[in-house]
Amino acid sequence: MADRNQALFERAQRVIPGGVNSPVRAFRAVGGTPRFIARAQGAYLWDAEDRRYIDYVGSWGPMILGHGHPAVLEAVQRAASRGLSFGAPTEAEIELAEAIIANVPSVEQVRLVSSGTEAAMSAIRLARGATGRAKLIKFEGCYHGHADALLVKAGSGLATFGHPTSAGVPGEVVQHTIVLEYNNLAQLEAAFAQHGRELACVIIEPIAGNMNFVRAQVPFMRRLRELCTQYGALLVLDEVMTGFRVALGGAQSLYARAIPGFRPDISVFGKVIGGGMPLAAFGAARDVMQQLAPLGPVYQAGTLSGNPVATACGLATLREIARPGFFDALSAKTRRLVDALSAAARERGVAFSADCEGGMFGFFFAEHLPQHYGAVMASDKERFNRFFHAMLARGVYLAPALYEAGFVSAAHSDEDIAATVAAAGEAFGA
Ligand SMILES: *Cc1c(COP(=O)(O)O)cnc(C)c1O
Repeated sequence: MADRNQALFERAQRVIPGGVNSPVRAFRAVGGTPRFIARAQGAYLWDAEDRRYIDYVGSWGPMILGHGHPAVLEAVQRAASRGLSFGAPTEAEIELAEAIIANVPSVEQVRLVSSGTEAAMSAIRLARGATGRAKLIKFEGCYHGHADALLVKAGSGLATFGHPTSAGVPGEVVQHTIVLEYNNLAQLEAAFAQHGRELACVIIEPIAGNMNFVRAQVPFMRRLRELCTQYGALLVLDEVMTGFRVALGGAQSLYARAIPGFRPDISVFGKVIGGGMPLAAFGAARDVMQQLAPLGPVYQAGTLSGNPVATACGLATLREIARPGFFDALSAKTRRLVDALSAAARERGVAFSADCEGGMFGFFFAEHLPQHYGAVMASDKERFNRFFHAMLARGVYLAPALYEAGFVSAAHSDEDIAATVAAAGEAFGA
């Protein structure tokens, strides 16, 4: 096929490993040629062949307003014209920190960094420094970026490639990382009984979006919070995906509604708070955050941290999504999509289950929603891959692996949703 995407992919593979700068982009899980994106606007992407797609990846989450939102573009252009980077503090960093804190009551101070990986890695170091302990618990299928200590049974790209853990991570580096099954209370109790006093922290995706879409059950989260408090371990919520995406206050605001007094000790943000630019953050109560240099003994730094253009982009994005009714409208639209997809599958007798929260959704070719990674792996991967390609051929761009959540933006219109459901009806039929 003399397709320009194919030509670009071949050229890319000569100079970039696998032709991509992040593995899942390569379409290895679903097969076929990745689309090289030429431009994007609103809910749409255009590939190198100028084919248009309705975009449900949204750069893996950040593009909650859709692509090219005018207020965001203007803020970015204005910031860029004033200077790309200073390596010195700016007022906009204060404003972004204030905007995050205003929406997340568990966070009194934040530090801005450049990627979710960096934020989660720094949060772990902070937890270890603050507690003077080494061990941590993470859950199978949860991804917290690719810092060595967290790169164990981490879902997403790793799941796609069938590596439980990356090569290049010595056993010594992950000897303090305990991996448990998500939503498994008995394992959690046992791990605390055995290691509770050595645990610096437990890190969890409250709604796991790197094994598609799996919620931490409320009793599980409640008990996790109790155990952390009882044993003096810090609870780290990785809200890189869910923060400012499932609700303005993140997934923690939803758990706080179900569990009186619930709050994490450390929160990790990324994706939406950068609005499409490289920006992430971690935050906690003041006494924890003041363990960081220059005040405390835990070192953490970054040449481009709080970059003025990225900060302007994030701030403009947060201002838009904080408008009254924004999340109600986004949630209702996402719910309509998920319900219509489920109905279309049911009509055609396809085993299908789906869930959503705010502007994030997931679906499985399985009768029931999986509760942990093993169950996600047991869902019908071949069906997903065929569905993915059938949708792509009909101009709908879903994440190219079944281990990934999907995202709806404010720019998706009712017509886009209807076109997506119509395409899915045909795809289910085929
Ligand atoms: C995307 C993601 C990360 C990593 O963020 P990067 O910016 O890709 O480094 C960490 N945790 C979660 C939950 C994520 O979804």
